[in-house]
Amino acid sequence: MLPKNVQIVMDTLLCAGYEVYAVGGCVRDRLLGKTPDDWDLTTSALPEETMRCFADLPQNLNGLKHGTVGVILYGSMLEITTYRIDGKYRDNRHPEKITYTASLKKDLARRDFTVNAIAMDRQERLIDPFGGCADIGRRLIRCVGKPKTRFREDALRILRGLRFASLPGFSLEKHTLDAANACAPLLSRIAVERVYTEVKKMLALPGAGDVMASTLPVFRAVFPTLSVTEDAWTLVCRRVKESGKNPELSFLCILEHTNIEQEMNALKMEKKRKKRLLTAYALRDTVWDGKRALARAMSEHGRDIILLLCRFQILTGRCDASWMTVAEDAARGCVSLSELAVNGQDLKAAGFRGQRIREVLECLLTAVIDGDCPNKKEALLAYCGGMKRTKRGSV
Ligand code: ATP
Ligand code: MG
Repeated sequence: MLPKNVQIVMDTLLCAGYEVYAVGGCVRDRLLGKTPDDWDLTTSALPEETMRCFADLPQNLNGLKHGTVGVILYGSMLEITTYRIDGKYRDNRHPEKITYTASLKKDLARRDFTVNAIAMDRQERLIDPFGGCADIGRRLIRCVGKPKTRFREDALRILRGLRFASLPGFSLEKHTLDAANACAPLLSRIAVERVYTEVKKMLALPGAGDVMASTLPVFRAVFPTLSVTEDAWTLVCRRVKESGKNPELSFLCILEHTNIEQEMNALKMEKKRKKRLLTAYALRDTVWDGKRALARAMSEHGRDIILLLCRFQILTGRCDASWMTVAEDAARGCVSLSELAVNGQDLKAAGFRGQRIREVLECLLTAVIDGDCPNKKEALLAYCGGMKRTKRGSV
């Protein structure tokens, strides 16, 4: 069954005499047995006509210049786009102008991959002029039309193709794969934000490592300082596959073979992620001699960074896999001041003052990490009972 809001919107447009279909990712995901995140509709109604049909509902008109009207129903937004043909493309990304059309087939023909070019009507019957259903069955990502032409029109499609091919069991159809590699240099013309978003999404999917293994030219375009032999790249791809859909770990595996800082800056990576990856990278050859040393490292750099680092060290053969048990054990304990069973207020009540409070909290953390004191309020207060109440040196 289609979701209630989709049914209502489709019925409204059909009653007003227009054609309307669900299209794109929602139909693809439904055919793959997944619940779609959002539903996109395509219609013969012109944007103003759509707006008029839903005049009594809140609307989002941000996409109007692409022919999209957002209608908000039951708290979620449905995007309704007029059938359209994209004109000639400029700058390998944007069509110079779009034209509306009365033909569903023409609208489907402008879409990137056959699996994204299937329409579904109100009765859930499929309109599939480009063989998308068969490709879903074969788990194949294939361009609608000539792959090179489609990638030259919009090079972002190369990365979208790699991303969809990273879905479980999927791969790129041969011509689409060859064209993706041949057109890869055009990616330098795409906004880095878009490139980064696609790569990030791809690295969170199970098939990313396998897809990467056959698309080295694409990754050379995304990471211009990437310096690997074919064999080294095969190893990187195997690590990405073993990383368990962990984008940060996968980024580390790739970035290890680049000028890491330069690439992270070029991609405009989020500050927090950049810091985490740089710290893990800088510590990649550090060896800790047990749980306490690891817990101390966690208190210094943060639990997540050290866990990420340990995974990376195991993945790259720097440490034995059993090391993860030690790291997880260390991570279960208290590794930061905020996790101590006492806080500044407790120490104030115990007579400590000013900067001394922080010093004592730090001493307590070290004692807990080193196993000299359990992380229990009474034990901690007893432990610091004999310590000086005011800052060292003051009276
Ligand atoms: P997801 O939302 O899971 O990322 P999607 O396929 O729904 O995947 P959207 O970006 O939501 O991706 O786009 C919706 C549909 O619009 C696509 O399924 C496709 O038919 C079409 N489309 C999107 N981007 C492009 C593009 N760059 N070139 C051609 N068609 C595109
Ligand atoms: Mg979508």
